[in-house]
Amino acid sequence: VLVGAGHAHIEVLRRFGLQTVPGVRLTLVTKGACTPYSGMLPGYVAGHYTGDEIHIPVAPLAGFANCRLVTAEAVGLEPVDRHVHLQDGGTIAGDVISIDTGATTNLSSASQFEPYVIPVKPIDRFAENWAHFAKRIRTNPGLQITVVGAGAAGVELALSIRHRLRRDLSAGGKSIGGRVVLLEKGDQILRGFSDGVRRRLSAILLRHNIEVRTNVGKLGFQAEADAGIQFDLGQFDATFWTTGVCPTDWLKKSGLAVDEDGFIAVNSQLQSISHPGVFAAGDAAGMIASPRPKAGVIAVRQGPILAENLRRAVTGDPLRSFVPQKSWLSLISTGDRYAVASYGNWAAEGRWVWYWKNWIDRRFVRRFMFEASETKRFPVNSE
Ligand SMILES: Cc1cc2nc3c(=O)[nH]c(=O)nc-3n(C[C@H](O)[C@H](O)[C@H](O)COP(=O)(O)OP(=O)(O)OC[C@H]3O[C@@H](n4cnc5c(N)ncnc54)[C@H](O)[C@@H]3O)c2cc1C
Repeated sequence: VLVGAGHAHIEVLRRFGLQTVPGVRLTLVTKGACTPYSGMLPGYVAGHYTGDEIHIPVAPLAGFANCRLVTAEAVGLEPVDRHVHLQDGGTIAGDVISIDTGATTNLSSASQFEPYVIPVKPIDRFAENWAHFAKRIRTNPGLQITVVGAGAAGVELALSIRHRLRRDLSAGGKSIGGRVVLLEKGDQILRGFSDGVRRRLSAILLRHNIEVRTNVGKLGFQAEADAGIQFDLGQFDATFWTTGVCPTDWLKKSGLAVDEDGFIAVNSQLQSISHPGVFAAGDAAGMIASPRPKAGVIAVRQGPILAENLRRAVTGDPLRSFVPQKSWLSLISTGDRYAVASYGNWAAEGRWVWYWKNWIDRRFVRRFMFEASETKRFPVNSE
């Protein structure tokens, strides 16, 4: 039973479709009819991609893999009996369970004003929230927006929002107004990136008139009359929250062993260290032997090994190890079909970087686009 159509599980489905395992019945439990691809989310916000272009429809992919699809939200897991509980009260049992349900935005420092902020995760909900918010842009030239968290996602989001404001307002004949503020509690943006990348993106943020505030203390609403508040969110029309992620509640309560941040603790075979019948990948998992930051690229790389190990878990063959890279290529888009590339200490920027990213992202999504007919067992665009 696969839970969640995350980046690793879509590859599992593709591989099971390419090579079936006799006697194995695959079931996918996932929340929505489509699963979003996060790498293209900033481009969706900027207006370069439609909602359909950044989503992979799950049913044709499940059909390709001969996988039963249950469109439902998992709300509980009994790892000993390997039962998954669904929101509608149903239960699904499996011999082997694999979890790739992602993570959720950590709102612990925003708990009092949670109803007023738009978390960037889960991405499916964010995409809906953005579609709703974007309608306000043309009629409100003076929108004041803040993005909390200046990691790669926050920087990309702030720049994408700025581009969208400019694009939609000039299309409506209005002069470019509005204000975009990027808030960071640390003393610098893009922690974990090289100085070169930080320098390039700082200059780009400045060029696009985005106010960057570092060392920002307690956030809140002055209207609450809380003397301790150092930055008033009340002056903004929208606050987007992109600080780190945390595990989802139902997984925390499952009884599976977790890492120090509460994510499912897995060994290098992507298997729960407490319950060998449960596997986990993507943001939901914490790799005990080789911890890495939460990133889609890790989930994508885990896909082939996870597929192989799920196969081996049923056939009884020895499992394979996933060896994560120490560094990987990041392509950070800046809203205006321009991007910055980062790999270790190497950095580059230009329109060509955006077109390179666009090519990689579109090719990735195309790999999982299948004909709706279950009988046609070929990708629409086979690479
Ligand atoms: C703006 C932004 C840009 C980013 N850009 C990049 C990038 O360029 N490169 C990069 O490497 N990383 C990027 N990331 C990080 C990336 O989004 C995550 O690391 C990645 O999505 C994790 O993939 P996943 O497989 O763990 O889960 P997800 O992609 O989050 O997928 C989880 C799936 O499980 C389903 N699901 C969730 N809960 C349940 C449930 N209870 N029951 C059933 N189904 C469920 C969801 O509907 C979804 O289909 C970005 C993040 C953001 C916010």
